[in-house]
Amino acid sequence: MEDIAGKTFDVVIVGSGPAGLTAALYAARADLNPLVFEGPEPGGQLMQTTDVENYPGYPEGVLGPKMMQDFREQAQRFGADCRYGMVTDIDFGDRPYKLTVDEETELFAKSIIVSTGASAKWLRLDSEQRLRGKGVSACATCDGAFFRDQHVIVVGGGDTAMEEATFLTKFASKVTVLHRRQELRASKALQSRAFNDEKIEFMWDTELKEVLGDEVVDGVEVINNKTREVTTLDDVTGVFIAIGHKPNTDLFKEVLTTDEVGYIKTKGESTATDLEGVFASGDAMDPVYRQAVTAAGTGCRAALDAERFLAEEKVREKVAVGG
Ligand code: NAP
Repeated sequence: MEDIAGKTFDVVIVGSGPAGLTAALYAARADLNPLVFEGPEPGGQLMQTTDVENYPGYPEGVLGPKMMQDFREQAQRFGADCRYGMVTDIDFGDRPYKLTVDEETELFAKSIIVSTGASAKWLRLDSEQRLRGKGVSACATCDGAFFRDQHVIVVGGGDTAMEEATFLTKFASKVTVLHRRQELRASKALQSRAFNDEKIEFMWDTELKEVLGDEVVDGVEVINNKTREVTTLDDVTGVFIAIGHKPNTDLFKEVLTTDEVGYIKTKGESTATDLEGVFASGDAMDPVYRQAVTAAGTGCRAALDAERFLAEEKVREKVAVGG
């Protein structure tokens, strides 16, 4: 990192999922020489996914890691500088903003694009983690189609769980929703859609105790948290954890306005945050759609917003010097 220490960059992009790398592509093509810090999970959540079948342009589908490699290569082709590294601190006191990378390298940015993504929350059972990508998933839209005519479970009682359960009925023969209480947190509309779907069953006061299987999921053990009765569902082949997502925005929470969950708020139609020259894109600012393609779209918008911001600033500086 010595080559970049102390230098000032037009655009620094924090995060390297579809949003960050699309922002990098657009910023690079606008001759802004973007510097991308890839973060703790280079490529983002798609690195955890196997086949991606809903990203336009890949008629045969594509593996998540391969797609992110393509994204990176495309951005690099136009000069984006993608580096392993975590932005560990940002001093938002003055522009250009001072960033610290990996707690040691300091550099400056005239504009910053935040694309730090979100992480699905997990139950943190050993068996759940071991079988991730082998029947355990946190994304029905990504993986639902692999469970045609099978019995799957969804864990959670919020809007995401109801949406995932309803979506899964397109493929699965049966969807059992496990909820730890007797009352759903989901909106009434999504609740009633799920209640009216004959493929969806509910197990109340029930928690996932263990995911069974060596190589792939071949059952689950669930426990009733009132009676402590343990039941084995031995025909379950898919486990969808839908207990919420957490945007990776801890670094920005003190200075940028977020909603109560931590999603960064942007101004109107733009990706501008309430700090000059700081733009937000992807799952860090999108609590609703959370798809690779929508993240890429906001990454594009953030780069265009940053480009315009820097161009307008240059004009203002010229006028000030001239005047
Ligand atoms: P959420 O509303 O926080 O719900 C999480 C659910 O998971 C809750 O039912 C919770 O149970 C359960 N849960 C949490 N931790 C658990 C654990 N360790 N073990 C078992 N169950 C656990 O999260 P979300 O459903 O992802 O929704 C997040 C936000 O996005 C919400 O504001 C939601 O309205 C919004 N959203 C909207 C839409 C839509 O409008 N179409 C779609 C998706 C999401 P308890 O209820 O017992 O706490």
